[in-house]
Amino acid sequence: MNQTPHFGTDSVWAGEEQLFAEGAICLPVFNSVTFGYDDMNEWNEVALGRKKGHIYSRNTNPTVRPLEEKIRIMDGGEEATSFSTGMAAISNTLFTLLKPGDRVVAIKDTYGGTNKIFIEFLPRLNVEVCLCDTTDCEQIEAEVKKGCTVLYLESPTNPTLKVVDIERLAKMAHQHGAIVVVDNTFATPINQRPLSLGADLVVYSATKYLNGHSDAMGGLVVGKKELVDRIYHYREITGATLHAQSAYMILRGMKTLELRIQRHNENGMKIATYLSTHPKVDQVFYPGLESHPNHAVAKKQMSGFGGMMSFSLKGGFAQVATVLENLKFAHKAASLGSVGTLVGPPRTTSHVELSEQERANAGIPESLIRYSAGIENSDDLIADLEQALALI
Ligand SMILES: *Cc1c(COP(=O)(O)O)cnc(C)c1O
Repeated sequence: MNQTPHFGTDSVWAGEEQLFAEGAICLPVFNSVTFGYDDMNEWNEVALGRKKGHIYSRNTNPTVRPLEEKIRIMDGGEEATSFSTGMAAISNTLFTLLKPGDRVVAIKDTYGGTNKIFIEFLPRLNVEVCLCDTTDCEQIEAEVKKGCTVLYLESPTNPTLKVVDIERLAKMAHQHGAIVVVDNTFATPINQRPLSLGADLVVYSATKYLNGHSDAMGGLVVGKKELVDRIYHYREITGATLHAQSAYMILRGMKTLELRIQRHNENGMKIATYLSTHPKVDQVFYPGLESHPNHAVAKKQMSGFGGMMSFSLKGGFAQVATVLENLKFAHKAASLGSVGTLVGPPRTTSHVELSEQERANAGIPESLIRYSAGIENSDDLIADLEQALALI
């Protein structure tokens, strides 16, 4: 068979084709901290990286490695490594690539924790940080031309689902010698493959769609081998390692990744379409809607638009509270990308630390609801929204 497997097959098989002990067909969870060698010569060869094997679980582990292989194959990267959380993946990547005197250009709408790295921690290390309007390609290009070690992008963004033209910006950034990093957490490799759009590195919070069940945390980095090897080395020393049990949970979740994302895409499109015609809804932010300002770019670079959306109500936070408190098929909680629908107001979750004025400046209405559509039946989710909206 010469054909390259499709996503549905890679979701299940990639990275774990080997047979396990006793013929087990599920990957064992290797809780062992360390790995023993009776042959001193062999131990030395493995320790020097000349022979395959594991030494110590802060560095590599036989349950964690197949997960790294699976995401590497699904994203079409040369190498991949893993972390205890998505933020560990992002911070370790930035701290590996940047040194005092460097300049990083990023979009304003990055994930809240990532934004903190940019405004709080990197300036302390004398790294110059330039945050640009997320969808203003000209501004981003002008800033990259002034000098840029890393161009950091995320698409679609949180919570207003802005879409960034990855291919255009990656091409331009490479002309100026920058390394391009893309947070692909919302899209997953099923809906968007940043490496084939020109990115050098893709970062994930595996806590979200990749695991998909809100029961394990993790982070992943995929891309150019030379860069991933450096990031792995930084993590191996600083220690934000993914635990074998979490790796197993994420690997298990990823077996249904294609199936789940297909359903998230269907539900997202149906619910966003429904909300966009509702008289009590002011605005709907979903890249799959033709009314979305970046729909053309989304259509070009994404093969599905996902289950994430946000919408604002005509009214204020009192109306938001009425709707949220009366939704039955939705956990009122932070996070996203789970089989179960998750909802929350950005003013309580992702953007709680901003003042009302700062949220307004960032284009986040006080009446905004972020909605992570799960894989439930879409008729039930729509009926649930219908009854909750009717109570306003
Ligand atoms: C949740 C999230 C992160 C951080 O991931 P953790 O696993 O919570 O550390 C980073 N980027 C995006 C887009 C996220 O949604």
